[in-house]
This record gives sequence, C-alpha cells and structure tokens, in this order.
Amino acid sequence: MTHEINETHDPNINSWVESANTSDTDFPIQNLPFGVFRQHDSNAAARVGIVIGTEIFDVAKAYDDGLLDDFTTPAVQVVLDCKQTSLNKMMTRDKEHLSAFRLSVSRLLRSDAGHSAERLAALRLCMVGMDNADVLLTAEIGDYTDFYCSIFHATNVGSMFRPDNPLLPNYKYIPIGYHGRGSSIVVSGTNIKRPHGQIRPDAEQPPVYAACKNLDYEMEVGFFIGTGNELGETIPLERAEEHIFGACLVNDWSARDMQSWEYQPLGPFLAKSFATSVSPYVVTMEALAPFRVPAFERDAEDPRPLPYLASEANQTGGGINLELEVYLSSSRMRESDIAPVKLSTSNLRDLYWTPAQMLVHHASNGCNLQAGDLFASGTVSGKEKSERGCLLELTWRGSEPLTLPNGEERRFLNDGDEVIMRGRCSREGYKSIGFGECRGIVTPAA
Ligand code: MN
Repeated sequence: MTHEINETHDPNINSWVESANTSDTDFPIQNLPFGVFRQHDSNAAARVGIVIGTEIFDVAKAYDDGLLDDFTTPAVQVVLDCKQTSLNKMMTRDKEHLSAFRLSVSRLLRSDAGHSAERLAALRLCMVGMDNADVLLTAEIGDYTDFYCSIFHATNVGSMFRPDNPLLPNYKYIPIGYHGRGSSIVVSGTNIKRPHGQIRPDAEQPPVYAACKNLDYEMEVGFFIGTGNELGETIPLERAEEHIFGACLVNDWSARDMQSWEYQPLGPFLAKSFATSVSPYVVTMEALAPFRVPAFERDAEDPRPLPYLASEANQTGGGINLELEVYLSSSRMRESDIAPVKLSTSNLRDLYWTPAQMLVHHASNGCNLQAGDLFASGTVSGKEKSERGCLLELTWRGSEPLTLPNGEERRFLNDGDEVIMRGRCSREGYKSIGFGECRGIVTPAA
C-alpha cells in the first residue's frame, strides 16, 4: 500500500550540493520535495523546482540546457511538468512516473554521479539559492477539507464545551471533517490579518460585529490529492495511498470567539475561512517511506473501524512518524532579539485515523477528489500538556495564560505575533528529512 524503501532513501548517499549534506538540513538528497519558485534576478516565469540543501534545482532549465539526457522516458514526462506554474499537472501522474523521476533526479544530484567538470559546472548553473527566489503556493487548490483526527485534541476541546460528554458517539466511527475554503489558503510568510466577525463577549447580551479577540493557530499536516476519482466512484483503502501526492505543514488559523458562537449546528464557517497557511514545499509520499509506522493503537474497548476503513496494511504501516513543533515570536521579542519560544511538540503518528482512512472516507460517498485538492489532519495534539497543538488547549480556553521569555502573557494571539511551525521525520539508520517552515505574522484588523 505504501511506497517501498529504495536506493533514493539510502542514508549513505551525499550530494554534490554541499549544503544538502549537513546533519541538520531539512532537505538532504533523500528528501527532494517540490516547490514553485520565481527567481529574483531573472525574467523566467514561475516554475516547479526541487529543493536540495539551501538550493532550488531548476529542473526545466536543466532540461532545456540538455543536461537530463540520461533520464528515463517515464521520468522525462514529469520533467516537462516542471515548466508549469503549479504542481497540479504533475500531481495527475501515476506512481511509476513519479518514482522514475525521483530516481533519475537522485542519481543526477548524488556526489558519486561521475559528472565531468564541465557538466557539473553546467548543472550548478541550474541551482537557484533559496534566498534568491520567492516561493509561491505549490498548487491551485480547488477544494480544501479539514479533518479532526487527533483524539487528544477532540477530547480536550470537547471537555471544555461538554465536560460530561467530551467525545461525541460518532468520533470512533467517522474521520470527522468539514469543508474549508480553498481560495484563502496562503503560502508561508504571508501576513494574516485579524478577522472581523460576530462575537458575543457578554453571554447575556446579543452578539456584536467586531475584530476577533481570541485568535488561535492549529498545528496540522496537509495532504495533496494526486490522481483523483470520478464522480460516483469510491476509493478502496488498498489503493488510497496511490491518490496522495505528498504532504506539507498547515496552520488552520482559527477565530475561537467567532467559532464558539457560529459552530452549531453545522460546524466551523467564518471562524476558519479567513486564512489558512501552508508550508511552501511538498514532501512526496515516497520520501516519507522510511518513516511509516503502525496506525494508532485503539483501546481494546473501542469499536473496530467499519470494513471500508480497515485493513491489515493500514494498521501496520498507515501512520507517519512526523514530529511537529510550534514556536511563537512576539513583536517585542523580535525587537529585543529574543529567539522564538517553543510552545509544543507533537507527532502525526498519534492521530486516531490515518491519512489513507481520511481519503477513503472522503470519497466513500462518491465525492470526486481532484489533483491539487488539499485535506488536512486537524490539530495534531498528543496525550501530554506539552503536546497540545493550539492555544485553545495550551491555555485551556484562556484560563491558564502562557508566559513568554520576556514576561509577556498570552491567552490567544496578539497583533505582531509570528507563529512558526516545523516538522521533521527521523528514524534510526535513515537520514532525517524535514518540511521547512510554515510561518505567519498576525497583523491588526482593518
Ligand atoms: Mn483545523
């Protein structure tokens, strides 16, 4: 069901791109994520590149310069997709083409590739420094869905609102989700304007239309649909992973005061749709192969998933060991050169449902998923207090404020606060890979 571990994951491979060989880089040659970039000192159109170390490999230029002549035929089709301004075309390619491309790129970039000095010099001209490019949204995201798959998050949030009955009866049967908004998804680094909306600061009084006071982040992981399904068709669990192109970090910004007033009975609406940030690079499912782990182990008394959501392969390898960190930096901290403070560490492997189960459930009514659609995990929280993936949980709805290193207190986000999310996969005997950062600064309401 998942990708095989192969030559491209070999921890002993280094690259002739020296910055890819440091132990702390997110982007060693074993990762090879995709991004859409526009070079600063060039008139070239935005295009798809591959991130390696601190560089972006301009695949289209290498092709035009005649440097990819030993790429296999299936790999060359994917090369041409790098001339697009989004990943959507590439996302429709099947697993065989994408794997062939990854293997060809890995062989091209490895330090023992055996390139002549002249060829290596020409290849180096196809590398664009990350600081010499703008990264854009990787895909045209038609539809965005957000799940709610951390049982720890759901239990925490549920117990604030319904202390006697935190987890609703459907939770252990259905990967709960809601339809988000594709048009307001922005790439990391985009400022987030505090939204206005209906809030009810005084429970005895009618609501008012005002700037959100309880702005929050949610640490999530998103998955891009690759090949879709036809309207009316479903996706069996055994084939689910073939439909997932790759993953990124997601910050599902949330206006808690708007949310608590509007969410009944149809779920979140304007409390979420004003902005969602994503990290700029897509880590492919193949790159994640060494980091697959068993799905969440359910308590013995929990119901088994219904048959369409259950398989041996999903149980043994459907999870992903991806450690997630959230940092906060206030404007006063930045002015005093205080480093961002870590708020939480959690892990994607603690989700109650796997990405494959989310996808299968999404398509189980015949809803057609399309290349470039994004679905996110929901806030990734763990059992411990230090593993809570949003301020709502960390400050328990504002009742237990956090103290920042310079003495400032936070219940929710202030204007000027920057939220920084990071993600990294590690496993003994393999090279660690990372997701880069998902950042956003809160700016004042209009
Ligand atoms: Mn969310």
